[in-house]
Amino acid sequence: MPLFNTRAIVLRSVNLSETDKIVTFMTEKFGKIKGVAKSARKIKSRFGAALEPMSYIQLIYFGKENQELFKINHCDIIQSFQSLREDFAKLYTGVYFAELFDVLLKEGDHCAALFQFLLDSLVRAQDLDHLETLRRLFELRLISLLGYAPKLNHCILCKKNPSPGWIGFSYHRGGIVCESCSGREKTEIKFRPGTLNYLKKLSIMDVKHAGRLKIPKEAEPEIEMVTHRLVLSHLGREPKSYPFIKQMAALG
Ligand SMILES: [Zn+2]
Repeated sequence: MPLFNTRAIVLRSVNLSETDKIVTFMTEKFGKIKGVAKSARKIKSRFGAALEPMSYIQLIYFGKENQELFKINHCDIIQSFQSLREDFAKLYTGVYFAELFDVLLKEGDHCAALFQFLLDSLVRAQDLDHLETLRRLFELRLISLLGYAPKLNHCILCKKNPSPGWIGFSYHRGGIVCESCSGREKTEIKFRPGTLNYLKKLSIMDVKHAGRLKIPKEAEPEIEMVTHRLVLSHLGREPKSYPFIKQMAALG
């Protein structure tokens, strides 16, 4: 049976039995995969903390190609992201990133850029104090990497640059609608031109530079409305970890 060896990030870990776990990974070489970790729940498990969500590991597993559930053979921690786990705002942000990968990607969705994007995002979450911009960038870029980049450069109907005034967004059509076209297409939300400028910057910015873009506090809710709703429109529900992020933001 083929043996697979790849770098990976743990997305989710659930108990399968008294002793075993099912673990979902984003791997560098083979995309999202799921495997059984035998005896992972035992106190002296050979896996140690390597199967905790967000752990960045070297993973060895085996099974037939394209099978649904692999057997996890060996894991070595490359980076545990311990400092992410010690701060609740960072922890929930990391958990949110892992959850979105878990729920939005299909098994076997294969793209090394997606793996690198998740890794870079976790590294940034660990380093940055202010996480709001990073979360918005993550939502927008993940949806784009999955092939649904929102059309932000010109109105989806008249193809012109939107004139000053309110800008609408159609989730159905995946792009902006200018004020003069707003009667012709149903738009779920509308926002100010300044918000569009931030969205454009976020859509092309390398995640490694997420700390450089300062979004004014008053613009944050509008940007969140656009990017988070983009996630909701693809997922069809609120991600489980998101209310915790909102609670932490309200406290902080
Ligand atoms: Zn238009």
